[in-house]
Amino acid sequence: MSFAEVLDNLALKKSELLNRFQYLIAPKSDHQLEAMAQASSSLTVQNFGRTMRLFAPLYLSNECINNCQYCGFSRDNPILRLTLEVDEVIAEAQHLARQGFRQILLVTGEHPKFAGRDYLAKCVRALAPHFSSISIEVGPMETEDYVPIVEAGAEGLVVYQETYNRGIYAEMHTAGPKRDFNFRLACVERGYAAGFRRLGIGALIGLSRWQDEALALAAHLEYLFKRCWQAQITVSLPRLRPAAGGFHPLFSMTDRELVQLICALRITFPQLGIVLSTRERASLRDSLALIGVTMMSAGSHTEPGGYTGQGREHVHRTVRGRIVAPDYQNGEDELATGQFEISDERSPAEIAAILRHRGLEAVWKDWDQALCGV
Ligand code: SF4
Repeated sequence: MSFAEVLDNLALKKSELLNRFQYLIAPKSDHQLEAMAQASSSLTVQNFGRTMRLFAPLYLSNECINNCQYCGFSRDNPILRLTLEVDEVIAEAQHLARQGFRQILLVTGEHPKFAGRDYLAKCVRALAPHFSSISIEVGPMETEDYVPIVEAGAEGLVVYQETYNRGIYAEMHTAGPKRDFNFRLACVERGYAAGFRRLGIGALIGLSRWQDEALALAAHLEYLFKRCWQAQITVSLPRLRPAAGGFHPLFSMTDRELVQLICALRITFPQLGIVLSTRERASLRDSLALIGVTMMSAGSHTEPGGYTGQGREHVHRTVRGRIVAPDYQNGEDELATGQFEISDERSPAEIAAILRHRGLEAVWKDWDQALCGV
């Protein structure tokens, strides 16, 4: 049975595991939440040790053919756009390597003309000798298009469904191939078939009731743990942040609810990697690091060229797939536009020092690769 069928029947048919998860995300007293946090924290230490994997996103391109109401990169937003050349990608990556990162996430909007399969494979091949783990977060592809990217050296694929609610998904994605809900839903399985061995899924928190998204996400995780058993699976729970286009979240999730969801996921899926981005503020990230999160981005920029100013000279606007001169408007600083505002602006070194202070070791590099001397 495909996951699309599982999802569509979720209201009628849930496994024991999902029933327990649903109980864990129901309203809880402070005392109950405290007990969940303690259980979550111990399970995290048992399964991951006192460690935190640190990674950096590297935005390669903010071109996009889709319109997603919540995203600054939407094709109809008249933002400043840029796709980095391969040598510019290397310069940005070298900056991250100098900061200590050996795990990077290459991010693009969805635009086959600017950032398609061959471009991605070239970028990955250029970076593979310098990074122990390369993941991609790009528009969904067919299995055969992922293969050359895996062969070039990428091991991770991240695809958020954004929302598991079909009606809201249709409202949010008004134009472009992303409107195909089922194609996106099956994406990580195609990536697994192509050879990716780290798979990341997630939902944007703020598009629908968080409890509904969480239950669907848990169902997806349960499905993937069975189907893609050779992969390490991670989940992200990004809460919507301000972005170009001025979208306001339709639903909210408090910090307390985020804590509860992280605990519920850890208790239900002890081996699940839980990722936290710089969208969240520093003090909350520091607290969540002790409860269940296993992987954090640090020092992030969400605009192509954001780390070193690479590609400045070919920043432009894109109108109907055509590049046009930028005509900078008041206040624009001639850099490509970022995807969203980040909240934790501390440097990677500062974040690593705080983790150490809290008894956690920052892991910049995978152990298995490190032992091989790569
Ligand atoms: S969310 Fe992704 S697909 Fe949608 S506009 Fe942004 S970059 Fe493009």
